[in-house]
Amino acid sequence: MKADVVVIGGGVIGLSTAYYLAKSGVEKIIVAEKKYLGSGASGRCAGGIREQFSSKPSIRLAKKSLDMYERLSDELNFNILFRQGGYLFLAFDEESMEELERDVKLQNSLNVDSVLLEPEEVKEIVPELNIDGLLGGSFNMRDGIAFPFPVVWGFARKCRKMGVEIRDFSEVSDILVRDGTVRGVKLGNEIIGADFVVNAAGGWSSQVYHMAGLEPYNKPVKHEILATEPMKPFLEPMVIDLTAGLYFNQSMRGEIIGGIGIPESPSYQMGSSLEFLEAFASRVTKLMPKLKGVKVLRQWAGLYDMTPDSLPILGETEIEGFIQANGFSGHGFMLAPIVGKLIAKLIATGESDPLLEPFKYDRFKEMDVEPEHMVVG
Ligand SMILES: Cc1cc2nc3c(=O)[nH]c(=O)nc-3n(C[C@H](O)[C@H](O)[C@H](O)COP(=O)(O)OP(=O)(O)OC[C@H]3O[C@@H](n4cnc5c(N)ncnc54)[C@H](O)[C@@H]3O)c2cc1C
Repeated sequence: MKADVVVIGGGVIGLSTAYYLAKSGVEKIIVAEKKYLGSGASGRCAGGIREQFSSKPSIRLAKKSLDMYERLSDELNFNILFRQGGYLFLAFDEESMEELERDVKLQNSLNVDSVLLEPEEVKEIVPELNIDGLLGGSFNMRDGIAFPFPVVWGFARKCRKMGVEIRDFSEVSDILVRDGTVRGVKLGNEIIGADFVVNAAGGWSSQVYHMAGLEPYNKPVKHEILATEPMKPFLEPMVIDLTAGLYFNQSMRGEIIGGIGIPESPSYQMGSSLEFLEAFASRVTKLMPKLKGVKVLRQWAGLYDMTPDSLPILGETEIEGFIQANGFSGHGFMLAPIVGKLIAKLIATGESDPLLEPFKYDRFKEMDVEPEHMVVG
Protein backbone atom coordinates (compact mmCIF):
# COMPACT_ATOMS: atom_id res chain seq x y z
CA MET A 1 0.00 0.00 0.00
CA LYS A 2 1.21 3.51 -0.78
CA ALA A 3 0.22 6.85 0.77
CA ASP A 4 1.27 10.36 -0.10
CA VAL A 5 1.61 11.26 3.58
CA VAL A 6 1.56 9.23 6.79
CA VAL A 7 0.96 11.34 9.88
CA ILE A 8 2.10 9.68 13.11
CA GLY A 9 -0.15 10.81 15.97
CA GLY A 10 -3.89 11.34 16.30
CA GLY A 11 -3.67 14.38 18.54
CA VAL A 12 -4.63 17.91 17.67
CA ILE A 13 -1.39 18.53 15.74
CA GLY A 14 -1.58 15.39 13.60
CA LEU A 15 -5.28 15.86 12.86
CA SER A 16 -4.94 19.55 12.05
CA THR A 17 -2.06 18.73 9.70
CA ALA A 18 -4.09 15.99 8.02
CA TYR A 19 -7.08 18.31 7.60
CA TYR A 20 -5.08 21.10 5.96
CA LEU A 21 -3.27 18.54 3.78
CA ALA A 22 -6.62 17.27 2.53
CA LYS A 23 -7.77 20.85 2.02
CA SER A 24 -4.63 21.51 -0.05
CA GLY A 25 -5.61 18.67 -2.38
CA VAL A 26 -3.23 15.96 -1.14
CA GLU A 27 -5.09 12.75 -1.88
CA LYS A 28 -3.87 9.78 0.08
CA ILE A 29 -3.34 10.68 3.73
CA ILE A 30 -3.17 8.21 6.61
CA VAL A 31 -3.21 9.25 10.27
CA ALA A 32 -1.83 6.49 12.51
CA GLU A 33 -2.74 6.69 16.20
CA LYS A 34 -1.49 4.02 18.58
CA LYS A 35 -4.39 4.45 21.03
CA TYR A 36 -7.57 6.51 20.57
CA LEU A 37 -7.80 10.03 19.13
CA GLY A 38 -6.91 12.60 21.76
CA SER A 39 -5.45 10.01 24.12
CA GLY A 40 -2.19 11.98 24.38
CA ALA A 41 -1.75 15.53 25.66
CA SER A 42 -4.50 16.88 23.39
CA GLY A 43 -7.24 15.21 25.43
CA ARG A 44 -5.55 16.11 28.72
CA CYS A 45 -4.82 19.79 28.29
CA ALA A 46 -6.40 22.92 29.75
CA GLY A 47 -7.55 24.33 26.41
CA GLY A 48 -5.80 27.68 26.87
CA ILE A 49 -5.11 29.83 23.79
CA ARG A 50 -3.03 32.99 24.01
CA GLU A 51 -0.72 35.34 22.19
CA GLN A 52 1.12 36.57 25.31
CA PHE A 53 4.58 35.02 24.87
CA SER A 54 8.12 36.20 25.50
CA SER A 55 9.81 35.49 22.15
CA LYS A 56 9.07 36.94 18.72
CA PRO A 57 8.70 33.61 16.90
CA SER A 58 6.16 32.36 19.47
CA ILE A 59 4.14 35.59 19.44
CA ARG A 60 3.96 35.65 15.63
CA LEU A 61 2.86 32.02 15.41
CA ALA A 62 0.41 32.27 18.32
CA LYS A 63 -1.21 35.39 16.88
CA LYS A 64 -1.95 33.67 13.58
CA SER A 65 -3.26 30.62 15.41
CA LEU A 66 -5.59 32.72 17.53
CA ASP A 67 -6.92 34.36 14.34
CA MET A 68 -7.71 30.87 13.10
CA TYR A 69 -9.31 29.78 16.40
CA GLU A 70 -11.74 32.70 16.10
CA ARG A 71 -13.10 31.09 12.94
CA LEU A 72 -12.49 27.41 13.73
CA SER A 73 -16.05 26.45 14.72
CA ASP A 74 -17.24 27.71 11.32
CA GLU A 75 -14.32 26.15 9.47
CA LEU A 76 -15.00 22.73 11.02
CA ASN A 77 -18.77 23.19 11.24
CA PHE A 78 -18.41 21.96 14.82
CA ASN A 79 -18.76 23.99 18.04
CA ILE A 80 -15.38 24.00 19.77
CA LEU A 81 -16.77 26.02 22.73
CA PHE A 82 -14.23 28.80 22.24
CA ARG A 83 -14.61 31.88 24.40
CA GLN A 84 -12.33 34.90 24.71
CA GLY A 85 -12.20 35.96 28.34
CA GLY A 86 -8.54 36.96 28.22
CA TYR A 87 -5.41 35.71 30.00
CA LEU A 88 -4.46 37.47 33.22
CA PHE A 89 -0.82 37.06 34.24
CA LEU A 90 0.12 37.91 37.84
CA ALA A 91 3.56 38.79 39.23
CA PHE A 92 4.29 38.43 42.95
CA ASP A 93 8.06 38.98 42.67
CA GLU A 94 10.36 41.47 40.94
CA GLU A 95 11.70 38.96 38.43
CA SER A 96 8.22 38.01 37.19
CA MET A 97 7.18 41.67 37.03
CA GLU A 98 10.23 42.54 34.93
CA GLU A 99 9.41 39.59 32.69
CA LEU A 100 5.86 40.90 32.17
CA GLU A 101 7.13 44.41 31.44
CA ARG A 102 9.57 43.11 28.84
CA ASP A 103 7.01 40.78 27.29
CA VAL A 104 4.20 43.33 26.99
CA LYS A 105 6.59 45.76 25.28
CA LEU A 106 7.59 43.07 22.78
CA GLN A 107 4.00 41.89 22.31
CA ASN A 108 2.80 45.47 21.64
CA SER A 109 5.56 45.91 19.05
CA LEU A 110 4.06 42.89 17.25
CA ASN A 111 0.49 44.25 17.37
CA VAL A 112 -0.68 42.26 20.38
CA ASP A 113 -2.90 44.51 22.52
CA SER A 114 -1.73 43.28 25.93
CA VAL A 115 -1.56 45.82 28.77
CA LEU A 116 0.28 46.06 32.08
CA LEU A 117 -1.95 46.38 35.14
CA GLU A 118 -1.60 47.78 38.64
CA PRO A 119 -2.78 45.43 41.43
CA GLU A 120 -6.07 47.38 41.82
CA GLU A 121 -6.75 47.03 38.08
CA VAL A 122 -6.18 43.27 38.40
CA LYS A 123 -8.80 43.23 41.15
CA GLU A 124 -11.25 45.04 38.89
CA ILE A 125 -10.98 42.20 36.34
CA VAL A 126 -11.22 39.38 38.91
CA PRO A 127 -12.62 40.77 42.20
CA GLU A 128 -12.30 37.36 43.92
CA LEU A 129 -8.47 37.51 43.79
CA ASN A 130 -6.42 38.12 46.92
CA ILE A 131 -3.91 40.76 45.76
CA ASP A 132 -1.76 40.84 48.94
CA GLY A 133 1.85 41.02 47.79
CA LEU A 134 0.87 41.43 44.11
CA LEU A 135 3.25 43.71 42.17
CA GLY A 136 1.16 43.84 39.00
CA GLY A 137 -0.09 41.88 36.06
CA SER A 138 -0.67 41.79 32.33
CA PHE A 139 -3.87 41.19 30.42
CA ASN A 140 -4.87 40.46 26.84
CA MET A 141 -8.61 40.37 26.17
CA ARG A 142 -8.21 38.41 22.93
CA ASP A 143 -6.74 35.32 24.61
CA GLY A 144 -9.18 32.54 25.41
CA ILE A 145 -10.08 28.95 26.05
CA ALA A 146 -11.58 26.20 23.89
CA PHE A 147 -12.75 22.76 24.92
CA PRO A 148 -10.02 20.35 23.71
CA PHE A 149 -12.20 17.35 22.76
CA PRO A 150 -14.39 19.12 20.19
CA VAL A 151 -11.26 20.51 18.57
CA VAL A 152 -9.86 16.98 18.21
CA TRP A 153 -13.22 15.55 17.12
CA GLY A 154 -13.95 18.49 14.80
CA PHE A 155 -10.69 18.04 12.93
CA ALA A 156 -11.15 14.24 12.84
CA ARG A 157 -14.70 14.50 11.51
CA LYS A 158 -13.65 16.88 8.75
CA CYS A 159 -10.66 14.67 7.92
CA ARG A 160 -12.88 11.63 7.47
CA LYS A 161 -15.34 13.60 5.31
CA MET A 162 -12.45 14.63 3.08
CA GLY A 163 -11.19 11.07 2.64
CA VAL A 164 -8.36 10.98 5.17
CA GLU A 165 -7.88 7.45 6.50
CA ILE A 166 -7.66 7.57 10.29
CA ARG A 167 -6.38 4.38 11.85
CA ASP A 168 -6.73 4.31 15.61
CA PHE A 169 -5.15 1.61 17.80
CA SER A 170 -2.46 1.37 15.09
CA GLU A 171 1.14 1.90 16.17
CA VAL A 172 3.96 2.88 13.85
CA SER A 173 6.94 0.78 14.93
CA ASP A 174 9.48 1.78 12.31
CA ILE A 175 10.24 4.35 9.62
CA LEU A 176 11.79 3.17 6.38
CA VAL A 177 14.61 5.39 5.13
CA ARG A 178 16.77 4.73 2.06
CA ASP A 179 19.44 6.99 0.50
CA GLY A 180 18.57 9.78 2.95
CA THR A 181 14.90 9.78 1.93
CA VAL A 182 11.77 8.55 3.71
CA ARG A 183 10.16 5.59 1.96
CA GLY A 184 7.37 4.63 4.36
CA VAL A 185 6.45 3.22 7.75
CA LYS A 186 5.80 -0.09 9.43
CA LEU A 187 2.26 0.06 10.78
CA GLY A 188 1.28 -3.08 12.70
CA ASN A 189 2.21 -5.93 10.34
CA GLU A 190 1.86 -3.77 7.28
CA ILE A 191 4.47 -1.80 5.34
CA ILE A 192 3.01 1.42 3.98
CA GLY A 193 5.00 3.35 1.41
CA ALA A 194 4.94 7.13 1.80
CA ASP A 195 6.59 10.20 0.27
CA PHE A 196 6.24 12.10 3.53
CA VAL A 197 6.07 11.00 7.16
CA VAL A 198 5.04 13.59 9.76
CA ASN A 199 6.24 13.15 13.32
CA ALA A 200 3.27 14.48 15.33
CA ALA A 201 3.72 11.98 18.15
CA GLY A 202 3.69 14.52 21.00
CA GLY A 203 5.42 13.24 24.13
CA TRP A 204 6.52 10.15 22.19
CA SER A 205 8.14 12.13 19.36
CA SER A 206 11.67 11.23 20.49
CA GLN A 207 10.86 7.56 19.84
CA VAL A 208 9.82 8.47 16.30
CA TYR A 209 13.05 10.43 15.71
CA HIS A 210 14.96 7.31 16.74
CA MET A 211 12.94 5.17 14.28
CA ALA A 212 14.30 7.34 11.46
CA GLY A 213 17.82 7.27 12.87
CA LEU A 214 17.83 10.90 14.03
CA GLU A 215 18.99 12.10 17.43
CA PRO A 216 16.04 13.70 19.25
CA TYR A 217 16.28 16.92 21.27
CA ASN A 218 12.84 16.24 22.80
CA LYS A 219 12.12 14.85 26.25
CA PRO A 220 8.75 13.83 27.72
CA VAL A 221 7.93 15.45 31.05
CA LYS A 222 4.81 14.77 33.15
CA HIS A 223 2.47 17.69 33.78
CA GLU A 224 -0.45 17.30 36.20
CA ILE A 225 -3.85 19.01 36.16
CA LEU A 226 -7.21 18.76 37.95
CA ALA A 227 -10.88 19.71 37.68
CA THR A 228 -13.19 20.62 40.55
CA GLU A 229 -16.92 20.25 40.96
CA PRO A 230 -18.81 22.89 38.96
CA MET A 231 -19.44 26.33 40.43
CA LYS A 232 -21.77 29.04 39.14
CA PRO A 233 -19.76 30.77 36.38
CA PHE A 234 -17.87 33.78 37.77
CA LEU A 235 -14.38 33.64 36.25
CA GLU A 236 -13.83 35.01 32.75
CA PRO A 237 -10.04 34.90 32.15
CA MET A 238 -7.41 32.22 32.47
CA VAL A 239 -5.42 33.30 35.55
CA ILE A 240 -1.67 32.65 35.62
CA ASP A 241 0.44 33.22 38.70
CA LEU A 242 3.82 33.53 37.05
CA THR A 243 5.70 33.49 40.35
CA ALA A 244 4.22 30.16 41.44
CA GLY A 245 3.86 28.61 37.97
CA LEU A 246 0.12 28.15 38.59
CA TYR A 247 -2.78 28.55 36.16
CA PHE A 248 -6.53 28.07 36.40
CA ASN A 249 -9.69 28.90 34.50
CA GLN A 250 -13.37 28.09 34.69
CA SER A 251 -14.82 25.87 32.00
CA MET A 252 -18.19 26.56 30.43
CA ARG A 253 -19.52 23.74 32.62
CA GLY A 254 -18.39 25.67 35.72
CA GLU A 255 -15.46 23.47 36.80
CA ILE A 256 -12.23 25.11 37.90
CA ILE A 257 -9.47 23.55 35.79
CA GLY A 258 -5.87 24.19 36.67
CA GLY A 259 -2.34 23.07 37.29
CA ILE A 260 0.93 24.06 38.88
CA GLY A 261 4.43 23.24 37.70
CA ILE A 262 6.33 20.91 40.01
CA PRO A 263 9.83 19.69 39.12
CA GLU A 264 9.78 16.42 37.18
CA SER A 265 12.50 14.38 35.51
CA PRO A 266 11.92 13.21 31.94
CA SER A 267 9.79 10.03 31.80
CA TYR A 268 6.61 8.57 30.28
CA GLN A 269 5.04 8.39 33.74
CA MET A 270 1.54 9.89 33.92
CA GLY A 271 0.38 9.07 37.43
CA SER A 272 -1.32 11.58 39.75
CA SER A 273 0.44 12.72 42.92
CA LEU A 274 -0.54 14.03 46.31
CA GLU A 275 2.37 16.47 46.06
CA PHE A 276 0.69 18.17 43.07
CA LEU A 277 -2.72 18.21 44.75
CA GLU A 278 -1.28 19.85 47.87
CA ALA A 279 0.82 22.37 45.94
CA PHE A 280 -2.11 23.41 43.73
CA ALA A 281 -4.69 23.53 46.52
CA SER A 282 -2.57 25.56 48.90
CA ARG A 283 -1.55 28.16 46.29
CA VAL A 284 -4.91 28.50 44.54
CA THR A 285 -6.86 28.96 47.79
CA LYS A 286 -4.40 31.61 48.93
CA LEU A 287 -4.83 33.41 45.62
CA MET A 288 -8.59 32.97 45.58
CA PRO A 289 -9.97 32.21 49.08
CA LYS A 290 -13.42 31.61 47.55
CA LEU A 291 -12.12 28.25 46.30
CA LYS A 292 -11.56 26.86 49.83
CA GLY A 293 -13.74 23.80 50.36
CA VAL A 294 -14.51 23.31 46.65
CA LYS A 295 -14.18 19.60 45.91
CA VAL A 296 -11.76 18.13 43.40
CA LEU A 297 -13.60 15.78 41.05
CA ARG A 298 -10.76 14.52 38.89
CA GLN A 299 -6.99 14.68 38.72
CA TRP A 300 -4.91 13.48 35.78
CA ALA A 301 -1.65 14.09 33.92
CA GLY A 302 -0.20 14.25 30.43
CA LEU A 303 3.17 14.71 28.78
CA TYR A 304 4.80 17.99 27.84
CA ASP A 305 7.12 17.31 24.88
CA MET A 306 10.04 19.51 25.96
CA THR A 307 12.86 20.91 23.81
CA PRO A 308 15.98 22.75 25.03
CA ASP A 309 14.46 26.20 24.31
CA SER A 310 10.81 25.28 25.03
CA LEU A 311 9.93 26.05 21.41
CA PRO A 312 8.51 23.51 18.96
CA ILE A 313 10.42 21.76 16.20
CA LEU A 314 8.69 22.36 12.88
CA GLY A 315 9.54 21.46 9.31
CA GLU A 316 12.16 19.50 7.43
CA THR A 317 15.15 17.50 8.62
CA GLU A 318 18.20 16.14 6.80
CA ILE A 319 16.08 13.08 5.92
CA GLU A 320 14.06 14.09 2.91
CA GLY A 321 10.33 13.75 3.52
CA PHE A 322 10.63 13.32 7.31
CA ILE A 323 8.72 16.32 8.64
CA GLN A 324 8.56 17.47 12.26
CA ALA A 325 5.63 18.95 14.15
CA ASN A 326 6.51 18.32 17.79
CA GLY A 327 8.20 19.71 20.91
CA PHE A 328 5.26 21.89 21.96
CA SER A 329 5.85 21.86 25.73
CA GLY A 330 2.61 23.40 27.13
CA HIS A 331 1.50 25.20 23.94
CA GLY A 332 0.63 22.71 21.23
CA PHE A 333 -3.12 22.99 21.59
CA MET A 334 -3.13 26.72 20.95
CA LEU A 335 -0.73 26.42 18.00
CA ALA A 336 -2.47 23.50 16.28
CA PRO A 337 -4.42 25.35 13.57
CA ILE A 338 -1.50 27.41 12.25
CA VAL A 339 1.01 24.57 12.60
CA GLY A 340 -1.27 22.17 10.69
CA LYS A 341 -1.79 24.75 7.97
CA LEU A 342 1.90 25.59 7.52
CA ILE A 343 3.13 21.99 7.68
CA ALA A 344 0.49 21.09 5.07
CA LYS A 345 1.67 23.99 2.89
CA LEU A 346 5.27 22.80 3.20
CA ILE A 347 4.33 19.28 2.09
CA ALA A 348 1.84 20.23 -0.60
CA THR A 349 3.89 23.01 -2.24
CA GLY A 350 7.47 22.49 -1.02
CA GLU A 351 7.37 26.06 0.28
CA SER A 352 8.54 26.64 3.85
CA ASP A 353 6.70 29.62 5.31
CA PRO A 354 9.00 32.21 6.97
CA LEU A 355 7.01 31.72 10.20
CA LEU A 356 8.44 28.18 10.42
CA GLU A 357 12.06 29.25 9.98
CA PRO A 358 12.95 29.87 13.68
CA PHE A 359 11.66 26.41 14.60
CA LYS A 360 13.84 24.22 12.40
CA TYR A 361 15.26 20.97 13.79
CA ASP A 362 18.90 21.88 13.28
CA ARG A 363 18.71 25.21 15.18
CA PHE A 364 20.27 23.58 18.25
CA LYS A 365 23.52 23.14 16.35
CA GLU A 366 23.79 26.94 16.33
CA MET A 367 24.02 28.09 19.91
CA ASP A 368 22.12 31.39 19.65
CA VAL A 369 18.55 30.21 20.19
CA GLU A 370 16.25 32.54 22.09
CA PRO A 371 14.35 30.45 24.67
CA GLU A 372 10.65 30.92 25.37
CA HIS A 373 10.04 31.80 29.05
CA MET A 374 6.25 31.83 29.17
CA VAL A 375 5.86 28.09 29.53
CA VAL A 376 3.01 27.79 32.07
CA GLY A 377 -0.49 26.90 30.88
C1 LIG B 1 -1.89 18.95 31.67
C2 LIG B 1 -1.62 19.66 30.39
C3 LIG B 1 -2.15 20.94 30.18
C4 LIG B 1 -1.90 21.62 28.99
N1 LIG B 1 -2.51 22.83 28.76
C5 LIG B 1 -2.35 23.43 27.56
C6 LIG B 1 -3.03 24.64 27.27
O1 LIG B 1 -3.76 25.18 28.09
N2 LIG B 1 -2.85 25.19 26.04
C7 LIG B 1 -2.04 24.62 25.09
O2 LIG B 1 -1.90 25.17 24.00
N3 LIG B 1 -1.41 23.45 25.33
C8 LIG B 1 -1.54 22.86 26.54
N4 LIG B 1 -0.89 21.69 26.80
C9 LIG B 1 0.00 21.14 25.75
C10 LIG B 1 -0.81 20.47 24.67
O3 LIG B 1 -1.73 19.57 25.25
C11 LIG B 1 0.10 19.74 23.71
O4 LIG B 1 1.18 20.57 23.32
C12 LIG B 1 -0.67 19.31 22.47
O5 LIG B 1 -1.83 18.62 22.82
C13 LIG B 1 0.22 18.47 21.59
O6 LIG B 1 -0.56 17.85 20.62
P1 LIG B 1 0.03 16.67 19.77
O7 LIG B 1 -0.99 16.28 18.80
O8 LIG B 1 1.38 17.07 19.29
O9 LIG B 1 0.34 15.54 20.85
P2 LIG B 1 -0.61 14.45 21.50
O10 LIG B 1 -1.97 14.96 21.76
O11 LIG B 1 0.13 13.86 22.64
O12 LIG B 1 -0.75 13.40 20.33
C14 LIG B 1 0.31 12.55 19.95
C15 LIG B 1 -0.31 11.21 19.65
O13 LIG B 1 0.66 10.38 19.04
C16 LIG B 1 0.35 9.04 19.38
N5 LIG B 1 1.54 8.26 19.10
C17 LIG B 1 2.74 8.33 19.74
N6 LIG B 1 3.62 7.46 19.21
C18 LIG B 1 2.96 6.81 18.21
C19 LIG B 1 3.32 5.79 17.30
N7 LIG B 1 4.54 5.24 17.30
N8 LIG B 1 2.40 5.34 16.41
C20 LIG B 1 1.16 5.89 16.39
N9 LIG B 1 0.76 6.85 17.26
C21 LIG B 1 1.66 7.32 18.14
C22 LIG B 1 -0.01 9.16 20.84
O14 LIG B 1 -0.78 8.06 21.28
C23 LIG B 1 -0.77 10.47 20.89
O15 LIG B 1 -2.18 10.30 20.82
C24 LIG B 1 -1.11 21.00 27.99
C25 LIG B 1 -0.57 19.73 28.19
C26 LIG B 1 -0.82 19.05 29.38
C27 LIG B 1 -0.26 17.69 29.57
